[in-house]
Amino acid sequence: MGTRPLLNRRLDGLGTTIFAEMSALATATGAINLGQGFPDTDGPAEIAEAAVRAIREGKGNQYPPGPGIPELRTAIAEHQQRFYGLTFDPDTEVLVTAGATEAIAAAMLALLEPGDEVIAFEPFYDSYAACIAMAGATRVPLTLRAPDFRPDLDRLRSLITPRTRLLLLNSPHNPTGMVLQAEELSAIADLAVEHDLLVVTDEVYEHLVFAGAHRPIAALPGMRERTVSISSSGKTFSFTGWKVGWVTASAPLVAAVRTAKQYLTYVSAGPFQYAVAEALRLPDGYFTDFREALHRKRDLLSEGLRAAGFEVYQPDGTYFITTDIAYFGEKDGLAFCRALPERCGVVAVPNSVFYDDPEAGRTQVRFTFCKKDDVLKDASTRLQRFRG
Ligand code: PMP
Ligand code: GLN
Repeated sequence: MGTRPLLNRRLDGLGTTIFAEMSALATATGAINLGQGFPDTDGPAEIAEAAVRAIREGKGNQYPPGPGIPELRTAIAEHQQRFYGLTFDPDTEVLVTAGATEAIAAAMLALLEPGDEVIAFEPFYDSYAACIAMAGATRVPLTLRAPDFRPDLDRLRSLITPRTRLLLLNSPHNPTGMVLQAEELSAIADLAVEHDLLVVTDEVYEHLVFAGAHRPIAALPGMRERTVSISSSGKTFSFTGWKVGWVTASAPLVAAVRTAKQYLTYVSAGPFQYAVAEALRLPDGYFTDFREALHRKRDLLSEGLRAAGFEVYQPDGTYFITTDIAYFGEKDGLAFCRALPERCGVVAVPNSVFYDDPEAGRTQVRFTFCKKDDVLKDASTRLQRFRG
């Protein structure tokens, strides 16, 4: 095979995702998995039934249409209208993808040329770095710093160069739980317009905002024609294994992203698309109850973590809590997370892997709270016991 490395240089160092590593560790040790973000309770039974019904009725068992089934594209457009007053044409301005993950990949591959720069909040959700790299572009971090993790907008301005092609936003932000506020969104939008930048915005936690409200940047003046908004059913409906995501954007942007998407998966999740179309039409009460339940869980786990000695950075959104372990003398989050199952039977995720500069997040550790109350209480007790 010669001496040339097998793995494409662009993927160097990207190895196994931390989520896969930590979930495998949880399975191997039987520890409580507060690492990878997936709920331990499935979404609404009637939505699961809708998927079963679709399979039985032969809906979506064969290749669905490339952009997604019309029922789902219409339901996505209705959702954007209902919650944000945004109007999208289901035929030309909506694209169904294999989760938000594929939407991110397709957007990066479609919109970037080698040498382009992408500014994104650091810590980055892990697939951003990989997808920017696969597109041959360069990531430029705008580091969010504890305790508030608010973006420094002067710094953002200073990072923009003639090579900047797009801003990759994520609000609510994984892993910090930061939610962009109205003034921040308008300042970012102004910069995008002034410098003629595209914006790709990952809004998978749009229905998990506990303080303030989720505001899509696409709704701001001058943004609709330059924004690719991405979301997914995984988080909102607690079916992370179904992998139904979507893009909403102007017709030319959707056409560009679709061009890449059709050669990644072409289509996916046929029967689940029917079920997600029903899920998106659930009454407002579903969305409110879901948010309130997770809000209570956030508070439950925050208290448990504080009692165990962690410094807790209260998240305004998502279902993750970032903590700092320096408080009780720990120095390295990755080593801490690898040892935690042995030490006390709990799995968490080290935020250092989401930073280019590992020093920046060396002592940050993320816990998810999308688990049953008893599981969160048990995990808290275990963490308190190990602190001794
Ligand atoms: N973006 C962020 C910020 C996430 O946390 C996740 C994990 N759900 C994704 C994208 C991927 O979403 P999906 O499972 O729909 O591919
Ligand atoms: N979004 C999930 C998290 O942040 C992980 C999804 C994945 O494993 N790719 O925990």
